[in-house]
Amino acid sequence: MSETRKNSIMNKLGIYVHIPFCQKKCKYCDFISFSCDDKKIHEYFNSLEKEIDNCKINEEVSTIYIGGGTPSFVNSQYIVNIMNLIQKKFKIKDDAEMTIEVNPGTIDKEKVLDYKKIGINRISIGLQTYSDRLLKLVRKDSQL
Ligand code: SF4
Repeated sequence: MSETRKNSIMNKLGIYVHIPFCQKKCKYCDFISFSCDDKKIHEYFNSLEKEIDNCKINEEVSTIYIGGGTPSFVNSQYIVNIMNLIQKKFKIKDDAEMTIEVNPGTIDKEKVLDYKKIGINRISIGLQTYSDRLLKLVRKDSQL
């Protein structure tokens, strides 16, 4: 890779937001993710908003990535609030790539429209398997 290309990649600033919640915890998963009640999810987003509000970054942001966990599992209003706050706090490039990870079982048209409205322009779909039988096997509450 040329020095110019390396420098241009190194100079890009990205924001990663972790949403550590899933419908069910998969047996093989090493990511920080939990199956939680609404109260815990609400508390997490309150803390996340405070943390974002305390951040100071002067450079322009080239990418925003909302990963997990399963970000599409939580009410899309939480994602809308977080994205609004990020866009208010930081300078986001006009052509910034804004991604959210979704799972086919927790996404619907309303959520996609909410994501689109707040500027998300890329969706990353996580799919463990098309087989319901295998899906049950990888979930923690199943019997092997
Ligand atoms: S859905 Fe993905 S992030 Fe969540 S527990 Fe399963 S593998 Fe991990």
